[in-house]
Amino acid sequence: MEIVLLGTGSPIPDAARAGPSTLLKAGEGGLEQVLVDAGRGCVMRMAAAGSLPVLLQGVLVTHLHSDHLSALNDVITTHWIMTNEPTPLRVFGPIGIRHYVEHSLAALEPDIGYRITHHDDLDWEPVVEVTEVEPGDAFGLGSMAVTVHETVHAPAHPTVGFRVERDGKVVALAGDTIPCAGLDDLVAGADAYVQTVIRDDLVRAIPSPRLQDILDYHSSVTQAAQTAARGGVARLVLTHMVPAPQPDQYEEWRAVAAAEFDGEVHIGDDLLTVEV
Ligand SMILES: [Zn+2]
Ligand SMILES: [Zn+2]
Repeated sequence: MEIVLLGTGSPIPDAARAGPSTLLKAGEGGLEQVLVDAGRGCVMRMAAAGSLPVLLQGVLVTHLHSDHLSALNDVITTHWIMTNEPTPLRVFGPIGIRHYVEHSLAALEPDIGYRITHHDDLDWEPVVEVTEVEPGDAFGLGSMAVTVHETVHAPAHPTVGFRVERDGKVVALAGDTIPCAGLDDLVAGADAYVQTVIRDDLVRAIPSPRLQDILDYHSSVTQAAQTAARGGVARLVLTHMVPAPQPDQYEEWRAVAAAEFDGEVHIGDDLLTVEV
């Protein structure tokens, strides 16, 4: 499998980082593809990664925070207008994702109407097949086996992470979460563990009360590295970094993780690709 970090940003706008979103490619030619979260600009980054929404086996949503979902409407619309017949886009996410998709489709109603009126060969609305998942659920996407694990990001609730297995390889994709038992299950023995992180020491130094609030519901780099070490994972992939590091700070970030974890540590850039 190939993990492509499409977007490594956070709610804070950054010219170099799209919103949180990760693409998993598998199978012959990497044509089995799964999108995990759909942050701002993810469809542009998909194009750069040789992907398109029509190639997706499914979209996995970790939670309903807008930074992880604000481009889902783009995924839905681009998937719809690039199909030649009604083709379902499969979306899996925690309870509440159905409501979110229904309301997104309601907001898209004028556009859907304009395009159906304008194109003779387009006479169907977007087909989005939503599955609300809970921890313990398991399902297949192409040749990939997916299990759903509980994470903790209160007051955002419910939140989940996805463990994807194929050919004996395991990729663990956590959204925003603090360390917890569900996260330990999610990452156990994984070949790669992708975690959204903050640097608590740096955030504490920023004089913004609203930023201080993020400290209690994300994993710090140290905590992510501790989770990786406990789980015996091979590679830790950091994304959604707050504050976003500049390239000359990557070594320092890597050193913070390496103090707790002796496997490979990847500091995310948009379009960074990690193979397992
Ligand atoms: Zn969140
Ligand atoms: Zn987030």
